[in-house]
Amino acid sequence: MNEADEVFNVQISMAHVQREKMEKFAQLCKEGKAISGISEEELASIIQDLNNDEVSYSNDMVVDMIIKYVLENTNEEKLTTILGNIKIANVERKEVIGSAYPQYMDGSYYVEIGEDIEKRICLLSDVFAVLFMFNEKLVGMENVILCELLKATKNRYFMNEEFTEDFNSVQVYMMICDNTYKDDFTDRYIAYAREIYEMAIAFLIGHEIGHHYYGDTIGKPKQGMERKIAELKADAFALDFAFKYLENSYPNKENIYGIHFFAGTYVPLIASASICKNIFEDGENYPSILKRLLGVQKGLQKILTLTSWEETKKYRDFLLKIIQFPLPTN
Ligand SMILES: [Zn+2]
Repeated sequence: MNEADEVFNVQISMAHVQREKMEKFAQLCKEGKAISGISEEELASIIQDLNNDEVSYSNDMVVDMIIKYVLENTNEEKLTTILGNIKIANVERKEVIGSAYPQYMDGSYYVEIGEDIEKRICLLSDVFAVLFMFNEKLVGMENVILCELLKATKNRYFMNEEFTEDFNSVQVYMMICDNTYKDDFTDRYIAYAREIYEMAIAFLIGHEIGHHYYGDTIGKPKQGMERKIAELKADAFALDFAFKYLENSYPNKENIYGIHFFAGTYVPLIASASICKNIFEDGENYPSILKRLLGVQKGLQKILTLTSWEETKKYRDFLLKIIQFPLPTN
């Protein structure tokens, strides 16, 4: 066991994030406080599968999957070394968004991401997914249900609460739609939410990996301007990292991706705004959330075609309006 493993085992809030969440969810379903849409046996079998699931780089299978995809498809030595020796812990401490710790003597790297920000990212990805569903071919009462879903997901995000009453009701309506129209209404929504979430988490962990990559954890950048620049550089690395994940996990010949994938990279910064005191002003060592959002936007401009970039920005603005976030200009 290396040093990062040892620290990891002490710090993690849950041994296996998805398994423990699924267990809690199954319990809530039993009590009638959550709705699953599948039978108790099916839920139990999912939990069993998660029990057998090995998470090698973290305690979160989404994080693990992202690292594996990037690691298997990169031949860049520095990145390979970092990813091969990394341990990412999901921790309960409220003040943690993400931290990269100095590399250990044995060459291992340790990163922490906060449970709270991960939850907020998940809830915000769900809101975002609804916006993309309006492009889908919908029939009958699906449009009305979608508006209800938007309200319910927004409410969950504001309350920072997964299982709310209105969300439970909407899920029943969605099941009725699936049953009536047989057109995978719910599955399409879940796919959007999941893909947005994956890109957001890739950005979130990519930022911390970026600090390791640029050596910020060894020769700590000086207080003030240097630290701020280090943050913006880590964001640029995070964007690149998320796109590496995208190209390797969803490969296609033409490199054509839905706008929601790109827009997902905005989610961590938008979600972290609900935790930070002021989104407009720089801290002593941190650039403002607004500045960082603009940085991501400039980064996307370099990667995407003009049309895709404009579409991505449009959806970001829709999301910001929906959650009443002050809109950055350009
Ligand atoms: Zn940072």
